[in-house]
Amino acid sequence: MNECEVKGVAEMFGEDVFNDTVMQERLPKKVYKELRKTIDGGKELDPMTAEVVAEAMKDWAIERGATHYTHWFQPLTGITAEKHEAFISPTRPDGKILMEFSGKELIKGEPDASSFPSGGLRATFEARGYTAWDCTSPAFVRHDAAGAILCIPTAFCSYTGEALDMKTPLLRSMEALNNQALRLLKLFGNTTSKKVTASVGAEQEYFLVDRSQYLKRKDLIYTGHTLFGAMPPKGQELNDQYFGSIREKVGAFMKALNEELWKLGVSAKTQHNEVAPGQHELAPIYTEANIAVDQNQLMMEVMKKVAERQGMTCLLHEKPFSGMNGSGKHNNWSIVTDDGINLLDPGKTPHDNVQFLLVLTCILKAVDEHADLLRESAADVGNDYRLGANEAPPAILSVFVGEQLQDVLTQLITTGSATSSKQGEIMNTGVKTLPDFMKDATDRNRTSPFAFTGNKFEFRMVGSSDSIAAPNTVLNVIVAEAFADACDTLEKAGNFEEAVHDLIKKYATDHQRVVFNGNGYSEEWVAEAERRGLPNIKSMVDAIPAIVTDKAVELYSRFGIFTRTELESRAEIKYEEYSKEVNIEAMTMIDMASKSLIPACVRYSHALAKTVLALKEAGADSSVASDLLSEVTSLTKEARDALGRLSEDDEKGSAMEDGREKAVYYHDVIKADMAALRAPIDRLEMIVDKECWPMPSYGDMLFEV
Ligand code: ADP
Ligand code: MG
Repeated sequence: MNECEVKGVAEMFGEDVFNDTVMQERLPKKVYKELRKTIDGGKELDPMTAEVVAEAMKDWAIERGATHYTHWFQPLTGITAEKHEAFISPTRPDGKILMEFSGKELIKGEPDASSFPSGGLRATFEARGYTAWDCTSPAFVRHDAAGAILCIPTAFCSYTGEALDMKTPLLRSMEALNNQALRLLKLFGNTTSKKVTASVGAEQEYFLVDRSQYLKRKDLIYTGHTLFGAMPPKGQELNDQYFGSIREKVGAFMKALNEELWKLGVSAKTQHNEVAPGQHELAPIYTEANIAVDQNQLMMEVMKKVAERQGMTCLLHEKPFSGMNGSGKHNNWSIVTDDGINLLDPGKTPHDNVQFLLVLTCILKAVDEHADLLRESAADVGNDYRLGANEAPPAILSVFVGEQLQDVLTQLITTGSATSSKQGEIMNTGVKTLPDFMKDATDRNRTSPFAFTGNKFEFRMVGSSDSIAAPNTVLNVIVAEAFADACDTLEKAGNFEEAVHDLIKKYATDHQRVVFNGNGYSEEWVAEAERRGLPNIKSMVDAIPAIVTDKAVELYSRFGIFTRTELESRAEIKYEEYSKEVNIEAMTMIDMASKSLIPACVRYSHALAKTVLALKEAGADSSVASDLLSEVTSLTKEARDALGRLSEDDEKGSAMEDGREKAVYYHDVIKADMAALRAPIDRLEMIVDKECWPMPSYGDMLFEV
């Protein structure tokens, strides 16, 4: 890169964000200081400060072309929601308008909450819900076809104070982690750190397909993934796509995407091709959990818009193409203090880093005790196609710690104390001019759902289309609980050294079953995990009950994250979401099969029948054509029968009351019916003349972007 380009990026970065620099420039010193106290120290925001900030924010946004503002929030629909308000205030007698935005409008919004899911928390006629400004996540101006809009990240709750969104519990969990981690640090004599934050970097996987192909597939349009489709002759088996050089069209997409994200202050950093053809990944630099969540939502939005502008469609679904690698979102998570200490940094000799060993074993305990909650946090309808399905990683939570840490843990468990850290872990290239460095604890383990990668954990179950708010909420709160339990014991201890030593040993021993460093994709692991008593929760429907167990209610209420009522309502919402989404998939299949695919097969049969007749009349051998005809006929019949069953069962399902029973029905009956319809149609796709097939194939979509 030449100097000019470097400057370009630096100048561009964050230019559409009301960030710290802008605030320092535009706010009176006193107001700026007050606001920082709220952002950094959690101090309550006073209305006068809000008033001044609102005025400055409005002026800044208008200079950037903004005509509207919106409270930008994440209701329980899985996407971000917004309602745009123009800055204009009522016209004056002279016929002109004023551009206005008050502190009140900044801190509080009132979208009609009745159409957002509340899981029975409120009746539809009780419409009041509030959005509240989250000043810890910076506001930004988004430019798109709708013009320029000032987006203000907000939390969303009901008139009666229940959280109706993803952000509120996340912020509560960050506070819990902060409090408990500070307690723990204090025990180790740390008097300097004032704040502890969960840091998150989410690697986002996605597929790109040509937009004109996409528009020919109703399944992609309505459900975001293919519900039919035979495997192409070439898939991902050659591994020639992973990290492969990036094609021009995709490169142009990545360039435009990066630029948009940089302007929005999202530090898009690493990009590469992924395992499947047409699949790619983008990772930003990690930041505070709350900001990382907002930025990930923004990244998904921008990806879709940029792709569309460039004649492509970005598929964020977890399994756009069955038989191909699915898309996830690796959630890298660590705990960092305001003065730069990463609690997950083992240092060079982890065996004598007592604080790290306590943190590590607390995390083992947390993951082991709440594996069900973590699993649930990664459950969505799309992820069911990727996790725990036949071709995908199993949905068992285990922790990969690597060789070095495993060795330390083993010493602790067997001898009671750890006296050495494996030295083989120093990377020596044999070249003097290349630096020696610590390797990651062992080789990488791509198959672990929860892997220690040097100074962070990487939670890999999360689906590509899902918000990372829930997984991080769970991580924060379960680790906060483990820290709290440890502190409860240690604060009372007469001899701290001895007590902490015993506690580390106890946690390592009690929770060693959750540690697994082997191949997480193997059959043997599934059996081994069962022997160890680890849960293997295969579907979203099976995952949901985890959030309403007594254990979960106790955990969440202990740290003020959720009440039992809030949890019960969330479970209801999830069951409803499951039935609704599977119903849409079923209806889409019915539509495609009955209006397009089966008619195509019938037309092809007709053409074949004519060919058979003609060949017979000409005295030629018609056996091939007639064999093909009978194969097509019998598969079409199989498809029609399956279609009939699916339609009938779906009608029954639609008539059921929302709730767990309905979701279970959709999982057990409808999904099986869908599979039974797909099978003959995918086989038909392989034998029907391509000219007659009414939609693009996997090959067309994956290799012709
Ligand atoms: P890896 O190759 O181990 O996946 P990368 O450096 O590519 O690691 O990082 C992947 C993601 O993890 C990036 O988003 C990165 O910013 C993030 N990350 C790196 N260090 C940390 C950390 N200490 N805490 C949280 N996220 C981190
Ligand atoms: Mg990674």
